[in-house]
Amino acid sequence: MSIWNHDLPRLTEKQRAALELAARRVENMHGSHLGFWGIVYAEEVRPGRGHDITAWAADGEAIATQYLDPYGNGPLVFSQTELIHNDADEDHHDEDGNCECTGAKA
Ligand SMILES: [Zn+2]
Repeated sequence: MSIWNHDLPRLTEKQRAALELAARRVENMHGSHLGFWGIVYAEEVRPGRGHDITAWAADGEAIATQYLDPYGNGPLVFSQTELIHNDADEDHHDEDGNCECTGAKA
């Protein structure tokens, strides 16, 4: 997975390296790339220290989540998804466009 240009200045060098390593580990497990990392930043504990982050990337079958502190330490979690609902799957809905799993009327 790749890092968006707008995220590069907010990440520490160690976080950038850790995300590149995580991308290679995911490709080894999954056989393909999951696109770009979406990154959520925690508040900085001290200004200039860097942020704890949660980075995730997903396709229709798998989700990778990499937790990192500013020093590039933290676990990679890799999961396969189970499809529950898909708005775009017409066989999933009745003729009025409703499905049982969301409970919401279209
Ligand atoms: Zn549904």
